[in-house]
Amino acid sequence: MEKIKMTTPLVEMDGDEMTRILWKMIKDDLILPFVDLKSEYYDLGLVHRDETNDQVTKDSAEATKKYGVAVKCATITPNTQRMSEYKLHEMWKSPNGTIRSILDGTVFRAPITIPSIKPVVKNWEKPITIARHAYGDVYKSVELRADEPGVAKLVFEGKSGKKEEVVIHEFNGEGVLQGMHNTDKSIRSFAHSCFKYAIDVKQDVWFSTKDTISKKYDGRFKAIFAEVFEEYKAKFDELGLEYFYTLIDDAVARVIRSKGGYIWACKNYDGDVMSDMVSTAFGSLAMMTSVLVSPDGKYEYEAAHGTVTRHYYKYLAGEETSTNPMATIFAWSGAFRKRGEMDNLPELVNYANQLEGACFDTLNEGIVTKDLVNLMEGITPKAVNSAEFIKAIRERLAKRLEK
Ligand code: NAP
Ligand code: MG
Repeated sequence: MEKIKMTTPLVEMDGDEMTRILWKMIKDDLILPFVDLKSEYYDLGLVHRDETNDQVTKDSAEATKKYGVAVKCATITPNTQRMSEYKLHEMWKSPNGTIRSILDGTVFRAPITIPSIKPVVKNWEKPITIARHAYGDVYKSVELRADEPGVAKLVFEGKSGKKEEVVIHEFNGEGVLQGMHNTDKSIRSFAHSCFKYAIDVKQDVWFSTKDTISKKYDGRFKAIFAEVFEEYKAKFDELGLEYFYTLIDDAVARVIRSKGGYIWACKNYDGDVMSDMVSTAFGSLAMMTSVLVSPDGKYEYEAAHGTVTRHYYKYLAGEETSTNPMATIFAWSGAFRKRGEMDNLPELVNYANQLEGACFDTLNEGIVTKDLVNLMEGITPKAVNSAEFIKAIRERLAKRLEK
C-alpha cells in the first residue's frame, strides 16, 4: 500500500512521562505505517525545555502560528518536587500557558463518547464541548483583607487624567476585598475562537454570564459576543446553526435537560468548574480531548489529561501498564483532519476518520484499557495493556484502509 501524502508539516510537540511513551507507540503503529508523515518536531519534554531555557516551547508556538496546525503531547508543569527530580535551572512556566498566550487562543474540551459508556446524565446523547475563557477575572485578581473598619473604593485613573471612583463598601468591622479585570481584546478573541470553532464542527454556541447582576462587567461580555457574532451570522444561518445567550443559572438547568451536541462558552471560573463536572459526567478524563483555537484560526490539538505520572513509575519499574491512549490518538486524528481540510487532501481526511473509526471498532468489541472496564454497560470488556490496545487498533485500521 502506498503511504498517504502530506504537503504542509504538522507541528509536533513531544512531551513527558507515560504520554511520551504512548506518543512513540502511536507514531510507530498507527501513523508511520500508513502516512508519509511530514512534521516539524519540537521536543517539549522537560529535559529539553530546561536545556533550551524553555525557548523550544516558544518556538513550537511560533511554528504553530506559521503552519496553522499542531499536535501536542502532555507535558509536566514543574513544581518544587520536579525542580529536584529533574535538577531544573528554573521552575519553567506551564507550556500550555506559554503556548496559549502566544496564540491568544481558547481551549475547547470535548469527550469521546461510545454507546457502552453512558453519561451520568441519561438524556445526554451527544458530547458537550466546553469553551473556557482562560484570561482574567478571579484568576488575575488582587485581594485585600480589611482588618479594621474603613472604606474600600474602586478607582480608575485614565491616561487622559480622568478619574472615576466608586465606593465598594464601608466596613464596620473586618472583611475581605477583591479587584478583578478583563480586557475587551481578550473577550473579543474568545468570541472569535468560539464562533470559528462552531462553524468548524457545525455546532450551536451557547454563552452564559450573570449580566442581570453584573451589568457592566458581565454585560460587556454579552455585548462583545453579540457584536462579534454579526461577523459570523450569515455563515451560521447558511449552516443552520444558532448562537444562544442566556444567564449562567438558566444555562446550567438547560444543559442538564439537553441532549448535548453544542459548544458551551463559559467565563473563566464557570469554565473551570463546569468542565470538571461535564467531563466527570461523561465518564473518564482519559477520553477527553482538547483543542486550542486562536482567533485567527490556528489549531493545537491535545489530550485533556496530564502525563499520567503514576503509570509512568510503574512502567519504569518494569510493570505492565494499561494507560488509555484514546485522547492522544484523537489529538493526532484531529490534527490530520484539519491539515487535510486546509491542504485539500481528502485521503488524509479519510485516514483521520478511519483512525477514529478503528478506535471505536476496538472499544465497541470490548477491547479496552483498564480505566474503562468499570464504566461499560451491556458488554463484557476485556482489559488489555497499552501496547495490545494499540495493536488491536492497528489491525482494524489496516482493514479499514484496505477497502
Ligand atoms: P494526569 O496525568 O491526568 O493523571 C491523573 C490520574 O488520572 C492518573 O493517575 C490516572 O488515574 C488517570 N488518568 C489520566 N489519564 C489517563 C489515561 N490516559 N489512562 C488511564 N488513566 C488516566 O494528572 P496528574 O497526575 O495530576 O498530573 C501528572 C502531570 O501531568 C503533572 O506533572 C502535570 O503538570 C501534568 N499535566 C499536564 C497537562 C497537559 O500537558 N495538558 C494537563 C494536566 C496535567 P489512576 O492513577 O487512578 O489510574
Ligand atoms: Mg478545574
